[in-house]
Amino acid sequence: MVRKKYAFIVNPIAGSKSSTKYFDKLKAELQKRSIPFSSIKTKWAGHASELVQKLLKKGEALIVSVGGDGTFNEVASILVGTNQKMAHIPRGSGNGLARMLKIPHKIGKVVGYLESGTIKEIDVGRVNNDYFFCTCGFGFDALIAHRFDGSKKRGLKGYVRNVIKSFFSFKGVTAQFTLDGKAYKGNYFAVTIANANQYGNDAFIAPKANLQDGLLDVTIIKPFPLWYAPLMAIALFGNWIHKARFVETRKAKKVELHSISSPYFHRDGDVYPLQVPATLSVFPSGLYLQTP
Ligand SMILES: [Mg+2]
Repeated sequence: MVRKKYAFIVNPIAGSKSSTKYFDKLKAELQKRSIPFSSIKTKWAGHASELVQKLLKKGEALIVSVGGDGTFNEVASILVGTNQKMAHIPRGSGNGLARMLKIPHKIGKVVGYLESGTIKEIDVGRVNNDYFFCTCGFGFDALIAHRFDGSKKRGLKGYVRNVIKSFFSFKGVTAQFTLDGKAYKGNYFAVTIANANQYGNDAFIAPKANLQDGLLDVTIIKPFPLWYAPLMAIALFGNWIHKARFVETRKAKKVELHSISSPYFHRDGDVYPLQVPATLSVFPSGLYLQTP
C-alpha cells in the first residue's frame, strides 16, 4: 500500500481570492517532486471537521488545512489532544496564527515548509466547550466580526470601511469578569483573550503572547476619546498596544465571564454564540503544528 504523505483539506472560498487556482499550482509543484498527497475540497461550513474525523481513523498522513482562520479552527479543533500532526497553508484575510509563526503562503516556499518544517506543540485556548487558536473576545472587535459576517465584501478594503463606520456609533460594552480570581466590572471598548499575538493582518492585540507559556493574554481596552483613535490604531499595528493609554494587559490561566451587555462575541475572528457565564482556559501543548 502506498502511504499518503499529505492529506490536504482545501477551502476553495477562503478570503477574498479563490483558492482553487492556487491549489492547482501547489499540486503541480508536488507532482513535479513526486511528493504523495491526497486532497479534498470543503463544500460547507463544518465540512472540514467531518473530513478530519475520517482522516484521523486512517491516521497515515500529515493533515494540511488550506484556508483561512475558520478552516484552520475546524481542522485543528478535531486534532486537539490527539497525537495527529497538522500543517496549515494560510489563504484567509486575517491569518493571525500563520503570521505569528511565519508560515508562508507563496508556492515556492510552501513546499519547503511542508518538507522540512518542525513540529511544535502549541497551546490551545478553550472557551466553554470549544477551542480557539488565535483570539476571542467581546466589544468593538466582536461587533466588527458580526458586521463583516453579514457583508459580502471580504478582504481588507471592506473591512477597513466597516471599522470606521462602526466606530462612530459604538458605545462600549458593559461587562463583569474575573482574571484568575481578580474581579473586573465596567464599560469596555474591547476585551480580547488571546492565545496568539494578533487578530491577523499584523494587528497585534497581545504583543506579549506566547504560544507555549500555558497562559492566555488578556487585553482590556477602556473607552477612549476620539482624538486617541489614531494612536490606538498605530499602537495596534506597531505592536505596542500594551503600552498605550486606556489599555491594561494581563496574563491569566483562567478567565470567567459573568455578564456581557452585548450579544456579540468572536472566536478566531468569526461570530460565536457564547453561553454566559463562560469559562476560558488553556489546553497546554494541545496541538502539534508544523512550523517553518
Ligand atoms: Mg500563551
